[in-house]
This record gives sequence, C-alpha cells and structure tokens, in this order.
Amino acid sequence: MMNIKRNVLLNPGPATTTDTVKMAQIVPDICPREKEFADLMKQLRLDLLKVVHADPEKYASVLFCGSGTINIDVCLNSLLPANKKVLVVNNGAYSSRAVEVCEYYGLPFINLQFPYTQQPDLEQVEETLKNNPDIGIVYTTHNETGTGLLNPIREIGAIAHKYNTIFIVDTTSTLAMRPINMQEDNIDFCMASAQKGLMSMTGLSFVIGNKQVIEASKDYPKRSYYCNLYLQYDYFNKTGEMHFTPPVQTIYATVQALKEYFEEGESAKWARHTRIFNAIHAGLDELGFKDVIKRELQAGLVVSVLYPDDPNWDFQKVHDYCYERGFTIYPGKISSTNTFRLCALGAIDEQDVKDFFVVLKEALMYYKIQIPVIYKDKE
Ligand SMILES: *Cc1c(COP(=O)(O)O)cnc(C)c1O
Repeated sequence: MMNIKRNVLLNPGPATTTDTVKMAQIVPDICPREKEFADLMKQLRLDLLKVVHADPEKYASVLFCGSGTINIDVCLNSLLPANKKVLVVNNGAYSSRAVEVCEYYGLPFINLQFPYTQQPDLEQVEETLKNNPDIGIVYTTHNETGTGLLNPIREIGAIAHKYNTIFIVDTTSTLAMRPINMQEDNIDFCMASAQKGLMSMTGLSFVIGNKQVIEASKDYPKRSYYCNLYLQYDYFNKTGEMHFTPPVQTIYATVQALKEYFEEGESAKWARHTRIFNAIHAGLDELGFKDVIKRELQAGLVVSVLYPDDPNWDFQKVHDYCYERGFTIYPGKISSTNTFRLCALGAIDEQDVKDFFVVLKEALMYYKIQIPVIYKDKE
C-alpha cells in the first residue's frame, strides 16, 4: 500500500476517505460496457437501497455521472407532470438551488420561503397545498448544509401525501450518516452523491425513488436529455448499464465504501458522526465561538459558526494556517452573515477534531485573536 498523506476534511464534502477506498480505484483497465462492470453496478444499486431501507420491489436507485446537483436537476425536470407546479419548502441555500433549477427549466413553482435559522411552519406548508391543488411535487432539503439546520421531513412528507403530491427530499448531506427510512420518512425520492455520507470519491450521484412514479414519468414533458430520470432508469433495466460513460474509478471506490459502510453499521456510524459533532461543539465552546443555528435545530453534521468581531480575525489566514497542518475548514453559505463551517462528515473521529482544535487555538494565538473570541453584541 502506498503511503498517502491523511488530511482531515472538516468541509461539507468531499469527505476524508479511508486508504482502502482510495486504493479501490486502482484496478486493471476495463471497458465499462463489460458484463463484469454491469454486475458491479447492479449490486451497488441494490446496496444503495439498503442504506435507506428501501424495498427493491417498490424503489429503485438510478445512477448518474455528475456532482450532487445533477440529482436536483434530474428530479425536478423529470418528475413534474404537465400543468402541475413544484412547491419548494425553502429555508436555505440548497432549496434555493432547487428554485433556480425550476427557473432554468421554466417550471411553474411556489417558493415558500422561511428564515434560514428556522424550521418551516408546517401549517403554512399545508395551507399552500390546500390553496394550490395544482401542486404536483413538494420539495425540500433534509439538512441545509449551508447552515446545518435539520428539516422535519417526515412531517412535511405526511402533508405532501395528504394532498396526493410527490415528496422529493435532497438528502445529499444526510444519507449514509443520519439514518433514513424511505417508507417511514414519507419520502418518494431522495438523493446523494458518493463523496459525502458514503465517504467515496466525487463523480457519482444517485437518485433513489418510487418505481411507479418513475414509470409514470415516461409520459411527462421531456425537458432534458442527459438528465432525464426515466431514460436512465429504463436504460439500466434494459442493459444494466448507465446510458452514457460511467465514472468508472468512482464506482470501484463506492463499492468498497459501501462494504465499509455495512461493516461499520448504520447506528455505529451515526454514533460516530454524533461523537465528532459533539467534539466540534466542545472545541468551539472552549474558544467562545457562537453557533448560527440553535443547537436543538441542528442536524448533527454541520456546525455553522459566526465570525468573531476581533479586528485581527481573518478567516482566510486561519484557514491557511490549519490547511498547512492538514485540517480543512470551510467558509459559510449565508449571504447576510459572515460564517464558517465545521462538519462531521468522513472517515474521521473525535480525536481528529481534538487535534484540529489544538491547531485552531495555535492559529488564533499566532494571529493575536483574543481567546475566548469576542462578539460585539455581548448578551
Ligand atoms: C453537497 C450538496 C449538494 C450537491 O452539491 P455539488 O456541489 O453538486 O456536489 C446538494 N445538496 C446538498 C444538501 C448538499 O449538501
């Protein structure tokens, strides 16, 4: 085995991977149209269903070559019947991305916007469905990765189903970390990419969804060629292959990552992420940093932190100091507030976070940033 430098990525994906996942990409050259490769994808697709406890009789996973955003594009452009609208339950950057996808395709939509620091008001969601019988899709994001806020998907899904609509959830930053159960969580479609919860490489994304709905979408308006869900699903059924060239190496890595996922186990893995998350909070508390989102509303994977009001604070400098020492931290994604993020993704554990905070503290001292850090609006 080669000696590969280990970096601790505290950014919201791609995540730190194991060496065994990295090495799984080094295989003899293969044409992905060979049966051997189709067999690999067949098992991978079934394993993805297992991650979200989806019955293969009822659900299918469909693979795409692209980053996670391809799933948002695919679901919205493919699953909306003619004369129907999308309702986006929006309290963050990723649901806003779905709104942009609707705009780009000219899909009719309602952008039901809530503050990015709060969970959506379910009564308002229901009211909107009641008043708009032409809504065909309810869409939201499970963990708003920009802030780390958890959305009550099970409850939103129940409302969506009460009004006979399809419920699509962007689970990119929870799947294979925070446990998900398609049926119990009232999800018709969810999605992720290989480099987040699964701790694999970039380039492979997947949608998991209700087969009946995918089959019905065969006759819906066709708004994209490369990103049509039915076309890709149908091609898999007929040939066992992706319609176009798959990300071969990432698929090998993901097969290994899934093996490691099932070896670690759903609840042990979630417990590990929780341990990391708690260690992040402990480290932040010790240095006096403040969260953006109330603790009880956080999804347990991303902590969004307010910049201190210290004249010497410079995120880029602190980032560079940590980066040079093997720790990657990430800027925030809230336009109105200066924040950075620390995430509990990847093949890391509590000790890595403790090691990180030693370095972060050094960085603060090096740049003469006051500890505990200071905020102007002291309570
Ligand atoms: C990472 C992520 C995506 C996908 O982003 P890409 O940059 O396309 O990989 C989508 N939704 C959520 C919630 C995410 O965290």
